[in-house]
Amino acid sequence: MNSTYTGWLLIPTDTGVDLAPGWVRVINGIITEVNTAGFAERVEFGDDSTLILPGLIDCHLHIPQFPVIGAGGLPLLTWLAQVVFPEEAKWADADYAEAVADLAATRLLSVGTVAISAFATVHAEATQRAINVMGRRGLRGFVGQSLMDRECPPELARPAMQLLREAAKLEQCSGIYPIITPRFAISCSPELLHGAGALARKLGQPVQTHLAETRPELERIAELFGDEPYTAIYDRFGLLGPRSLLAHCIYLSPEEQAIINRSGSVAAHCPTANTFLQSGLMNKGAMEQAAVRLALGSDIGGGYERSMVRVARAMVETARIVALESGDAEAVPSAAQAWRMITRGNAEALGLADAGRIEPGVRADLVIARPDPEAFTSPDPLGFLLHAWDDRWITATLLQGDIAHGQIPE
Ligand SMILES: [Zn+2]
Repeated sequence: MNSTYTGWLLIPTDTGVDLAPGWVRVINGIITEVNTAGFAERVEFGDDSTLILPGLIDCHLHIPQFPVIGAGGLPLLTWLAQVVFPEEAKWADADYAEAVADLAATRLLSVGTVAISAFATVHAEATQRAINVMGRRGLRGFVGQSLMDRECPPELARPAMQLLREAAKLEQCSGIYPIITPRFAISCSPELLHGAGALARKLGQPVQTHLAETRPELERIAELFGDEPYTAIYDRFGLLGPRSLLAHCIYLSPEEQAIINRSGSVAAHCPTANTFLQSGLMNKGAMEQAAVRLALGSDIGGGYERSMVRVARAMVETARIVALESGDAEAVPSAAQAWRMITRGNAEALGLADAGRIEPGVRADLVIARPDPEAFTSPDPLGFLLHAWDDRWITATLLQGDIAHGQIPE
């Protein structure tokens, strides 16, 4: 298989992205050549109104929650009880879980998402099926069994030892790997948190969890754990490190930010979920000043947006609102920084060295789009593409050079 695509190439760099006319050659699923000296002729697809960008990456989402996107809009703990837990309980039926995971894969690929870090449910068989479906559909990244042994409906709670035994047996499928997934410290006993940290070290697996999403959550944490700061709890149980993804991180003291910085953990910012559940606004500038590594997640279904482009736009909007208060307009990310975040930035957060890039040697996981042509004559093409983004522009999503969504006209 040898194909060449031409168009405006959105190429992530160390600090942002470049947009340049050029072409990419793909041989056997790998990008072998990238040229930015102008559009090419006689290619498989593309012209001067085509956009070619790396497949997008979503660092935090919940596969079982695709069927309940947009439901409720309640505060976190009420929304979990009324909307999420009843839906996740349905994953006791592994066939149902597999169907939902397949639907989720279809939806993700349709908006250009090619790699994920995702929660499944507390059910071991359903989690394995979700890993298998995502792997077979060609996505990459991580899917974890959601660990809960308290503070949830009885049909979703499991003894800690059972959960740890089950999580240890999960197997990789193609590019999807298991990840240790304590849901959050409210729903995990100290025994389960301790076991999860030990299991991550023993198996060499990454960790994902939630941290400091809402104020009522912090109050419950204080009731359960006393004065110990939320972040310090995860640290004590060995759950922090360069391969740990911490979703939300809205309400953190400078001391907690310093713990995260020292551990090298990544804070997964989820701006659409934070407004939908009225959780709060993360101060991205303050996190950057504390030198905390940041990634971006849709947090489906607390987040209602499947498109990572619109999640990135929400990140910019949230930063603007925060800047109204702080007066620190410098903290608002540029469109180039937003594009980098959902491509190479999120790939680095997931430890995927050959994702989120357009360069020789990386996998040809690409999105090919036909934006409104004025995007390319705009004084700020990257800003236009980010803010006016429309999924109908997507012609195809390619995984290893093969069409996984859409079609390339002959
Ligand atoms: Zn979440």
